[in-house]
Amino acid sequence: MSNLEQTLSIIKPDAVERNLIEEIKSIFTKNNLVIKEDKKIHITKEEAAEFYKVHQTKPFYDDLCSYLSSGPIVVMILEGQNAVLFNRELMGATDPKKAKENTIRKLYGISIDKNSVHGSDSVDNAKKEIKFFFKN
Ligand code: UDP
Ligand code: MG
Repeated sequence: MSNLEQTLSIIKPDAVERNLIEEIKSIFTKNNLVIKEDKKIHITKEEAAEFYKVHQTKPFYDDLCSYLSSGPIVVMILEGQNAVLFNRELMGATDPKKAKENTIRKLYGISIDKNSVHGSDSVDNAKKEIKFFFKN
């Protein structure tokens, strides 16, 4: 059964800094996710805090917001069959050490905080996150 979805993906500062944008994009496109929109931006710490506010009570929140605003990022709308969960599979576990072989985080992640990519975790959050970066 067809289940076309959109999800929000972010290439985080550690990966942009290491020139991994095209390599990461090619993993999505090779796996039949279509990049519908993409832009390179540099957000403020306040914007990062708004984006990650579900994590505001976590001990890592402040560092996470500083990190996401520390350099340019690439935000993308990915579209494809079951895109939300499929993108999470391509990304791998949050901690690169625990991520499966050939996942983006296993290939490129440096640590649990510098883990190269973000991906929405539900269809509902995908809608909110897409709206956050691509308002129109
Ligand atoms: N994070 C961190 N320390 C932790 C857990 C998470 O720095 O112990 C960071 C990490 O960059 C992660 C982000 O916070 O990608 C959001 O955490 P979440 O649990 O939502 O993981 P994700 O959905 O990105 O796999
Ligand atoms: Mg998450």
